[in-house]
Amino acid sequence: MDETRDDVYTPVNGCQDCSATGCGAREPASQPTEAPGALSRRQLGRVVAAASAGALLAGSPQSAWAQQAAPASKLSPDLDVVKRSKGPIMTVLEEFYKVGPGPSSSHTIGPMRITYDFYQRCTKLPKDQLAAATALKVHLYGSLSATGKGHGTERAALAGIVGKEPATVDPKFLDDLAARPDQVFKVKLGDKAFDVSLKDIIYDSPKGDFPHPNTMTCKLMAGDKVLLEQEYYSVGGGFIEWKGYTPPKKGQPRYPYSTMAELLAHAHKNTLSIAQIVLANEVAVGGKTEADVYAFVDKITTAMTNIVKTGLSMPVATLPGPIKLKTKAGEVYKRAMDDEFAAPRGVGVVAAYALAGSEENARGHLVVTAPTGGSAGVMPALVYVLGEGGRKMTQQKIRDGMLAAAAIGYLCKHNATLSGAEGGCQAEIGVASAMGGAFLAQAHGFPPQVVANAAESALQHHLGMTCDPVAGYVQVPCIERCAFGAVKAWTGFMIASNEVPADRRVDFDTTVAAMALTAREMNGKYKETSEGGLAVAVVLC
Ligand code: SF4
Repeated sequence: MDETRDDVYTPVNGCQDCSATGCGAREPASQPTEAPGALSRRQLGRVVAAASAGALLAGSPQSAWAQQAAPASKLSPDLDVVKRSKGPIMTVLEEFYKVGPGPSSSHTIGPMRITYDFYQRCTKLPKDQLAAATALKVHLYGSLSATGKGHGTERAALAGIVGKEPATVDPKFLDDLAARPDQVFKVKLGDKAFDVSLKDIIYDSPKGDFPHPNTMTCKLMAGDKVLLEQEYYSVGGGFIEWKGYTPPKKGQPRYPYSTMAELLAHAHKNTLSIAQIVLANEVAVGGKTEADVYAFVDKITTAMTNIVKTGLSMPVATLPGPIKLKTKAGEVYKRAMDDEFAAPRGVGVVAAYALAGSEENARGHLVVTAPTGGSAGVMPALVYVLGEGGRKMTQQKIRDGMLAAAAIGYLCKHNATLSGAEGGCQAEIGVASAMGGAFLAQAHGFPPQVVANAAESALQHHLGMTCDPVAGYVQVPCIERCAFGAVKAWTGFMIASNEVPADRRVDFDTTVAAMALTAREMNGKYKETSEGGLAVAVVLC
């Protein structure tokens, strides 16, 4: 955590006055030492650009004014998600776009993957140990404890320990569990079977010095004795790690990059689109064929399309939880389609599609992390509007857009965060919107710099956005925020595709660095704890 990174070289947003990216010009990171009042806006910009976003989020370099910031969650330097701020991006599509139950990738998909993983580990124990097993216990800490109830974390965690996989679980199982929380299930481990229920998912301490704000422990018990225990972390976007985690062995990327500047340099040098570079890396890192990669993308876009269609077709109803929020995607869609003018009709339809996806997430039905559950309405809306719900573009163009969008998500994950618990909503809806900007620009065939600029524009205008879900439910502000994220993605695409690309004064890497810095300095109340902002301003009755 206190490690000082003096090896960080980051593309500078302009060497002095030049804003060109991809020129290869670098300068060493500087160590800011002055208080904020002593920094001019220009100096502040240079500090942000010169410091690695990943290092900023992980706690280094330290500045006097960063230390004055309100308390924020710390991340352990042992977490792979922090270590990976060095070296090239190694994430692949299967890790990034994940299907699972809403409403939150970090609070439902991640915990369910964790307990499913623990269940699998238990099944591999020797028979004599399993014969002594009497119970499975799951302890939730930090943000998982603070807001897990509103997210249905306990139901997702229970589904995992009874052996249900996130990608294939029938949402009815979770709906039934919400309706009848007293249900008891049999877990079979070897020859032994015992009961588990929601009582075995324990909301433990919400505050403490945890390696990650979303920490869990899973235990297999034999009476008072612990047979197997594992500490896990839901590190955002449905990604999980555990104590002692080492990442799986992978191939080396054909076009290694850890910043947008490096990605653009590969594109320019090899006359490739961002989508083509991502495709080549997926093949090299993941050991797949191009056909495999496209088949996976098609599976994800089909899921996204189905999510929007299902959401639009649902009757108006009240979502679960104390907010008593009414759904509205279908109504907004119908009324938008009645508008006599094309522009408001278009905005209304994009918003309705995003509401549809996000309402499905709030119902706890299957969603795709893009990059998270809370932001799961943004990308499906744009996929649907370019596909069968609007422009009817070819699947190849949509595939290209999805690959470019993934590159944006990878860069944000690598150099900042995708977790509302680490970085506020800028890290969820902001990143989803940036992915959407890149998706639209790539699918429409614009060159790499326009793709990067569209993503930058969309992300820039989410900087500082806090995560303050009312009552801990991924409903207010999350559902409408997805609609805004989708519309802002389109706005970013419109600006980037209509300006002179080289004239843009802020590059994507700088904005990601700013997001990481903002995340680090953001008050912990605004990081998915429901202790500030709308969560305390809205009075429920
Ligand atoms: S406010 Fe944003 S980051 Fe927080 S739960 Fe909602 S969508 Fe996720």
